[in-house]
Amino acid sequence: MRKRIFNNFKTLLSSASNNIFHVNKLHSYPNFTKNVYQVNRGPYKSLEEHHLTFFRDVLGENGMIVDLCDLEKYNVDFTKQLRGCSTLVLRPTTTQQISKILSFCNHNHLAVCTQGGNTGICGGATPVFDEVILSTELMNKVIHLDELSGVLTCEAGCVLQQLNDFLVERDLMMPIDLGAKGSCQIGGNLSTNAGGIRLYRYGNLHGNVLGLEVVKADGEVLDCMNTLKKDNTGYHLQHLFIGSEGTLGIITKVAIQCAPKPKSVHLLFLGAQNFTKVLKAYKKARYDLGEIISAVECMDHQTMELVEEHSELSSPIGPYPFYLIIETSGSESVHDQKKLEGYFNGCMDKHFILNGVVATSAAQREKLWSIREGIAHSMYQDGYVFSYDISLPFSSYYDFVTEMREYMGKKAHRVFGFGHLGDGNIHLQISIKEFSNEILNYIEPHIYNRVDELHGSISAEHGIGFLKRKYLPKIKSSENLSTMRKLKMLMDPKGILNPYKVL
Ligand code: FAD
Ligand code: ZN
Repeated sequence: MRKRIFNNFKTLLSSASNNIFHVNKLHSYPNFTKNVYQVNRGPYKSLEEHHLTFFRDVLGENGMIVDLCDLEKYNVDFTKQLRGCSTLVLRPTTTQQISKILSFCNHNHLAVCTQGGNTGICGGATPVFDEVILSTELMNKVIHLDELSGVLTCEAGCVLQQLNDFLVERDLMMPIDLGAKGSCQIGGNLSTNAGGIRLYRYGNLHGNVLGLEVVKADGEVLDCMNTLKKDNTGYHLQHLFIGSEGTLGIITKVAIQCAPKPKSVHLLFLGAQNFTKVLKAYKKARYDLGEIISAVECMDHQTMELVEEHSELSSPIGPYPFYLIIETSGSESVHDQKKLEGYFNGCMDKHFILNGVVATSAAQREKLWSIREGIAHSMYQDGYVFSYDISLPFSSYYDFVTEMREYMGKKAHRVFGFGHLGDGNIHLQISIKEFSNEILNYIEPHIYNRVDELHGSISAEHGIGFLKRKYLPKIKSSENLSTMRKLKMLMDPKGILNPYKVL
């Protein structure tokens, strides 16, 4: 078995993902969120003709979408599980336009839902009622790149993949990478404090973002466009907006520290007998591969079965109970390969792993990553998916998936887990044939209570959005919550920004 590595990369993966996800049309459009979740509409004004006249004056006819068919893709979330009933999308191209729009909405008490790439999976990006949708999709210009410091300045609507492509041509890359990169925008990434596969190496966005420009609810433009690595002059206001999910202001520009493109990248795809062995192999990787590790992901065999069932992809090493994916990024290929070989042989000798392959070329790596990135695409073809994005201590990281599988019994079609092992973040998924309130009530709040008991987090990277907001009071202390509410009151006293979300 061992000889397969380094000299026998199998090309079983036939279709590389294009990273732009279209959820399968198996599901018809969902019922309106307001009905399914029985939410009461806030005291906001409804749109009137004179509001539309104002928006038309600011944006012109092309900057607005009012056609109900065209509106649908903005009203329905990525998972096709939530649906708002907005009748207006605004598509500004400048900060000044956003400033005018928010000042007007604030004055007229019109609620606003900011939307980036609409790939969020906790219902933050779609309206619940008839909020005006403010899409940043036309604010997609790179403003400046300092190739020496690696600081990129751009507008909030730039698509992550496009930014990365732009940087790669200049031997740099974004410090963040995630499966939705073909659609998600940097403004959305910051607003959700997105994680993804590069967090292990480059840390979370709080560490990479140097500056932001934000429009406040009253239209005031807050210029925090710092591009220095070190600047301790007063409160770091830009951090307030990272992870604030569109509830405190609209991010319009970003200055972000980018990383040099590594000269040598390898990807190991390993099979293991059980999760204890996965952890042993992970621990060994931390010591043996140390400074060159750039990502550590895992998935169980149920996840692989799902991908194999709904795509043309398959395991490059055959079936194993667990898979561990380790990416290394260094500056000298011979050095890195020697380390990888030593690591692999050591893991085999100790029986931490049963098999593995290494991808050395970019094409091979892309094919292997497409298995991991193809999970989301396959998942939503499996039926209705209850998706949980949790952080857990390693002691309960996978045990919790097993526990939930037992808890669900025959009620679930499939219970599976995959995730960013190196960051202690697992995506636990429960798929059933069709949405049912009965099953929802069976899973929640049980699952959140258990995560809390296990000292985990109910949102490792996707945020609170609409779907998890009612659980926030259960996991945050009253002091935490009241400070959050005071901040919200300070930034958006009329509550026009993304109502029904987070708080
Ligand atoms: P949207 O979904 O449009 O919005 C998300 C939230 O941010 C909303 O609350 C919205 O109001 C707010 N918002 C958007 N733009 C702005 C702005 N300019 N100013 C203020 N508020 C704004 N997430 C991860 O963290 N890690 C992953 O590995 C990951 N993988 C994914 C894989 C797939 C296939 C999919 C579909 C999603 C994945 N996600 C992941 C979730 C999602 O892609 C991220 O949350 C992403 O950051 C959302 O960006 P977006 O532009 O689509 O934002
Ligand atoms: Zn993730």
